[in-house]
Amino acid sequence: MPALTNRKRVLVTGGAGFLGSHLCERLLAAGNDVLCVDNFFTGSRDNVLHLLDNPHFELMRHDVTFPLYVEVDEIYNLACPASPIHYQHDPVQTTKTSVHGAINMLGLAKRVGARIMQASTSEVYGDPAVHPQPEEYWGNVNTIGPRACYDEGKRCAETLFFDYHRQHKLDIKVIRIFNTYGPRMHPNDGRVVSNFIIQALKGEPITIYGDGQQTRSFCYVDDLIEGFLRFVDTPAGVTGPINLGNPGEFTMLELAEKVIRLTGSASTIEHMPLPQDDPKQRRPDIAKARALMQWEPAVPLDEGLDRTIAYFRGRFFS
Ligand code: NAD
Ligand code: UDP
Ligand code: UDP
Repeated sequence: MPALTNRKRVLVTGGAGFLGSHLCERLLAAGNDVLCVDNFFTGSRDNVLHLLDNPHFELMRHDVTFPLYVEVDEIYNLACPASPIHYQHDPVQTTKTSVHGAINMLGLAKRVGARIMQASTSEVYGDPAVHPQPEEYWGNVNTIGPRACYDEGKRCAETLFFDYHRQHKLDIKVIRIFNTYGPRMHPNDGRVVSNFIIQALKGEPITIYGDGQQTRSFCYVDDLIEGFLRFVDTPAGVTGPINLGNPGEFTMLELAEKVIRLTGSASTIEHMPLPQDDPKQRRPDIAKARALMQWEPAVPLDEGLDRTIAYFRGRFFS
C-alpha cells in the first residue's frame, strides 16, 4: 500500500542497538517515518528513549526470525548480535537471526516492493589471507569454529540477498561493516574499545589478548551512518557488497596506549590468551566507496575515542 504522504516509511530492524539507534536518529532528522523493530536481546529502550516522544518514531518489540507484516518503503536490516560474547551466547539463535531474519525481511521487501539494505560484516572475510580486503576477496572462514554462527550466518544472508535480487528482482544494498565504535556501544560486550575504555576509567589493568600486535581499523559511528545513507541512496542496481570502515590501522597495543593517554588513567597493561580464530589483521579497502559516493571517514581515532570516553564517563561514572 503506497504512503499517503511524502514521508518515506523506513523500517530499521535492530534499531534499538548501537548502530541502529544512531541510524534511527539520522533517518528521523532527514524527515522520514521510522519503525524500529527489536527484540531487545542486546539493544534496549534506553538507546532510543530520546526518540520515543517523536510522533514519527515507532518502537515495536519483535523477533525477526518470525514473519513481520508491515507496510514500508525502505528496510535497513541490522538485527543480529554483533559481539562475540553476545553472538556466542546462543549460537543457534544467532544463525537463525541472520538466516531466517534475512528470509523474512526479504519476503517483506518482495511483497511491498521496498528497497532493502543488509548490515553485513567484515567477518565474511574471516581470518583474511588478503590484506587489506577488497570486496572481491572471498574470505577465509572456519565453518565449524566458535565464530561460524555469526560469520556463516552473515555469509548466507548475503547469498539470500543476491538470490532474491537475481530471482525476484529485489532492490538490494549490501554493506560490509568493519569495526565501528562510539556512544551507546555496550559497556560489557567484550569489544576491545569498550573494554579498554571501561578498564581505563576504573583504573583496572587493560587486558590485551595475545601479544597485542594484531591490528584492527576503527570507524566512528557517525562516519559509518553517513556511509549507510549515501549507499542506500545510490541508484537501483548498485547492489554492493561495499566495504565501509576506516582504513586507519592500529595494533591493540597502540589502542591501549591511546585510551590510557586520553583518559589520563594510571591503568597498566596485562596480557591474556588470544581467543580461538582471532583474526591477525583487518583493514578495509574502501576504494569503491570513495569512487562511488565520495565517502570516507572524517573523524580521527583520537577524536572519536574522546567522544566515546565522554559518553562512558557520563553514563556509567558520574
Ligand atoms: P547491537 O547488538 O547493538 O545491535 C543489534 C540489535 O539487534 C540489538 O538491538 C538487538 O537487540 C537486535 N536483535 C538481535 N537479534 C534480534 C532478533 N532476532 N530480532 C530482532 N532484533 C534482534 O550491535 P550493532 O553493533 O549495533 O550491530 C548492528 C548490525 O551491524 C548487526 O547486524 C551487526 O552484525 C552489524 N555489524 C556491526 C559492526 C560493529 O562494529 N558494530 C561490525 C560489522 C557488522
Ligand atoms: N514474509 C514476512 N512478511 C511479509 C512477507 C513475507 O515476514 O510481508 C516472510 C514469509 O513468512 C516467508 C518469508 O518472508 O516465510 C519469505 O517470503 P517469500 O515470499 O520470499 O517466500 P514464501 O512465502 O513463498 O516462502
Ligand atoms: N581484544 C583485546 N582485549 C580485549 C578485547 C579484545 O586485546 O579486552 C582484542 C581481540 O582479541 C581482537 C581485537 O581486540 O584481536 C578486536 O576484538 P573485538 O572483539 O573488539 O572485535 P573483532 O575481533 O570482532 O574484530
